[in-house]
Amino acid sequence: MEADKAVIQETVPLLLPQVKRGRPKKPKVPKEKPEPKPRERKEVSIWRDDPRLYFRMYYHNRPKEKCSCPHCGNTFDSKRGLDNHVYKSVLCKRIREIKAQQADEQSGQVDKVD
Ligand SMILES: [Zn+2]
Repeated sequence: MEADKAVIQETVPLLLPQVKRGRPKKPKVPKEKPEPKPRERKEVSIWRDDPRLYFRMYYHNRPKEKCSCPHCGNTFDSKRGLDNHVYKSVLCKRIREIKAQQADEQSGQVDKVD
């Protein structure tokens, strides 16, 4: 009898139909990605098409031009040099401050006279 019980306990779970637990899930359908449309170029870009020509034109339009600082009188070969000087030079900055102070004092004196 005990041997029969053991056989029944082993065979019964195999005979029962296996039921999945939980809610039924949708079968997965692989998504088909649409092919990307080829982009249309709206504008003509020299930079993108021919970078060498672009840089040649860029520097052709900005030729070297001698100029001098209006504050301290230094001369430069290009406008870029002048901009750099105005931005960085400590001496030029000091001269500008002194000029501004003088202008303030003069305007103050004019006000006092009036
Ligand atoms: Zn200067």
